[in-house]
Amino acid sequence: MSAVWALIKKDIIGKRDIDFFDAESAEFYLTKDLEAIQSSFPLLSEEWITFADSYHGLFEVTKTVTKDLYGEPVGVMSIAHDITQRKLTELKVRSHREAMLALNEISSDNKAKNYQEQISLGLKVACDYLGMMFGVLSQIQGDASEIEAQHSPEDTLYEGLAYPLSDTYCSLVLENSEVTYAQNMEESTYAQAKCYGLFGYQSFIGQPLIIDGDLYGTLIFYNYQPRFTPFESVEIDFIKLFSRWVITIVRRNQLIEKIHLVNERVNLALHGADLGLWDLDLQTQQVFYNDRWAQMLGFELHELTPTYDTWANLLHPEDAQEAIQKVSAMIAGEITELNIEFRMQHKAGHWVWVQDRGRVVERDAFGKPARMVGTHMDITERKRAEEEIKVLAFYDVLTNLPNRRLLIDRLEHALVNSARNKQYGALIFIDLDNFKTLNDTSGHDKGDALLKRVATRLLSCLRDGDTVARFGGDEFVVMLDGLDTQESIAVNQVEVVGEKIITSLNQPYDLGGQHYFSSPTLGATLFNGQIDNVDDSLKRADIAMYQAKNAGKNCLRFFDQHIQSNLLHKAKLEEDLRQAIDAEQFILYFQPQVNINGRITGAEALIRWHHQERGLVSPLDFIPLAEETGLITQLGSWVIETGCKQLVTWMSDPIASHYNLSINVSARQFHQPDFVEQVQAILERTGANPKNLKLELTESMLVDDIDDVITKMSQLQLKGVSFSLDDFGTGFSSLSLLKLLPLNQLKIDKSFVRDVLTDSNDAVIARTIVALARSLGLNVIAEGVELEGQRDFLFENGCNDYQGYLFSRPLTIEAFELYRKSLANQNVEMKTLWEKAFLNDTVKQYS
Ligand code: C2E
Ligand code: MG
Ligand code: MG
Repeated sequence: MSAVWALIKKDIIGKRDIDFFDAESAEFYLTKDLEAIQSSFPLLSEEWITFADSYHGLFEVTKTVTKDLYGEPVGVMSIAHDITQRKLTELKVRSHREAMLALNEISSDNKAKNYQEQISLGLKVACDYLGMMFGVLSQIQGDASEIEAQHSPEDTLYEGLAYPLSDTYCSLVLENSEVTYAQNMEESTYAQAKCYGLFGYQSFIGQPLIIDGDLYGTLIFYNYQPRFTPFESVEIDFIKLFSRWVITIVRRNQLIEKIHLVNERVNLALHGADLGLWDLDLQTQQVFYNDRWAQMLGFELHELTPTYDTWANLLHPEDAQEAIQKVSAMIAGEITELNIEFRMQHKAGHWVWVQDRGRVVERDAFGKPARMVGTHMDITERKRAEEEIKVLAFYDVLTNLPNRRLLIDRLEHALVNSARNKQYGALIFIDLDNFKTLNDTSGHDKGDALLKRVATRLLSCLRDGDTVARFGGDEFVVMLDGLDTQESIAVNQVEVVGEKIITSLNQPYDLGGQHYFSSPTLGATLFNGQIDNVDDSLKRADIAMYQAKNAGKNCLRFFDQHIQSNLLHKAKLEEDLRQAIDAEQFILYFQPQVNINGRITGAEALIRWHHQERGLVSPLDFIPLAEETGLITQLGSWVIETGCKQLVTWMSDPIASHYNLSINVSARQFHQPDFVEQVQAILERTGANPKNLKLELTESMLVDDIDDVITKMSQLQLKGVSFSLDDFGTGFSSLSLLKLLPLNQLKIDKSFVRDVLTDSNDAVIARTIVALARSLGLNVIAEGVELEGQRDFLFENGCNDYQGYLFSRPLTIEAFELYRKSLANQNVEMKTLWEKAFLNDTVKQYS
């Protein structure tokens, strides 16, 4: 500046301001000079001065008034310093600080600004600071550069643009790891060679961006104008600082994107699983609920206050305590996983079943839970299905009564209660008499209608705590709980209920206009939790019901222990019997039948069972069972076949060839439709003479379908087979019936024979039977003759055929053969034998 001053010194003396400056400036300087003259202090000011050579600078000017000896002002001395440079630096520092503050504000202002906006605003701040026109942030991917964000007058012009990397400003910047710039492309041959012509930029400054050791991209500022002042160190420092700012924003954005991605995945998973989400801050009690959480309860998220109480207040009163307790237990560390099901109130008022699962995800410095996160699932549908399944599984669809399974469940509880309080309980099995007939004749609709009415009536007979269940078909079971501790009183209580049930169910039913009468049969048992179990109690009630049926139906029977053990015995026997047939454990015994002359006329075949453990089992023990189970048909044909084979053996013996064999036929066996054919087949197969075969029937089998009996008897009789009526006198056969039957013989039952000598009634009966037989033209034989007196009595009254221990016990075939041969060899009168009475010993020996 002094050089400038020196240059013009000779020219300025004697000149005025107006000679150097424009009028306005001259006026200004003059005013300033006058101000200085008036002031008692030197006047300091900063003034922009443009010189003739057009240099324009900021000057710091000190104006001091100069005075003469009398103190009168004579002039103004001005000293001017060129402070243009200093001021520029000062300005740059200030704008640098302001720019940094602005960037800080942009990055900390999280409200509305997204990443793009933040970078764009940042670039603008940097552009302003650097005096550049464009700022561009590019991301380098492979050999291309993609503009991520930019600031330019056209703003979004290049946004999202991707272009090849080679020979671009980016590639130029990337060659150097530091800041690269060209202030005038005309002068920068290298830059010019590579990029000149690209967009017509005249200057640029840029720097590569390295994030976490990896190249991310470039940050470049451009201008269409060349720069006349070079980039200074403050500007280069600024661009370094700015790139660090950009890196922070980019990294933060990357993190946010990552979080978004994770959130998106979580949300997708939650959505897929139809789950709501909650995140509870235990310190503040604030909860983050997601949209789905609110939607499940019919709310928009903003309608709910995000607090723990929002959840707690919507809980169903019945579920609230348990649910809240569980959460507390979780907070207290008593449980590690939360899994609760409860109802919550929907906005519309109804209840929604919800399952919440959660866990602690953050703890405080003391290890106490600080944050819990969990899911929220609508399980209403599942609960409804469960409920339905429960109903289907535990209730009878027709009557809505508990079914067998539920009754068993309740019985288990009742047994536990009974064991504790020593009170009796009772089970009553109820079966509807003749229900099958209603079903078969009037149809299942009527049957179902009856069952429903019965169910209603049963319920009306009981107290609240009692259970009535449908066991299937027409079987119902009533369970009474909490009866007396004293057995006899408890029995009375059951009887009262039983009577009530019988009376109620006996009332006529109106089944769609049709009057219908139905009666129940009841079997009851008491149970005592200390000794009983479910199975046995049910079995006993069932047995009692069958006992009641046998006792004539429409009544109540209590279970009888004696009958129970018989049943058990029977069950075992039945099993053995089935096996015995296969194992051929049966033997046929023969009991001789003799006439008045003491001659053997034949025998009665009597079956025996050689049981492996029990020894010889009496037919009285197993024939009824064989009848009941139907096994008699097999057994019966075996007897007939074995008997016929024996007849064939005897045929070749002149002494035995005339023997008759009496074979017992049971009712069920005789009633088989093909009984006649079976017998004929056996006769043919064995070759036995039908004339020697006598079938013993009993009066009991004449009760049902007498026509069929007569037909079968007649058919067989035509073949030569004869018939004897066994145990005669014990049944109820009428004289007229007897007349109809094609019989050959009556057999006086051994019960009359036994007492003929002592009981005048029996004597009369025996005598009458003989007379009756005679009048009907039938033979008569007495069984069970043990004493001579009995034989004599029978003989005197006209009965000439006998069977009994007096002559022989039933014998094995070997013993029988020995017996009859010894008789024949001795060739003595029977009478003598009786007198000698040795025979009984012989028989005993053989049997
Ligand atoms: P039942 O046909 O009346 O047979 C006569 C029963 O009286 C036989 O008993 C015989 O042993 C017995 N008895 C014979 N003499 C005397 C006597 O002097 N005193 C006494 N107290 N009893 C005598 P068992 O053999 O025990 O047979 C019992 C019943 O079993 C038979 O009575 C018959 O009804 C039935 N039974 C036997 N074998 C068969 C068979 O093969 N088929 C069928 N369906 N029933 C049979
Ligand atoms: Mg017999
Ligand atoms: Mg008999």
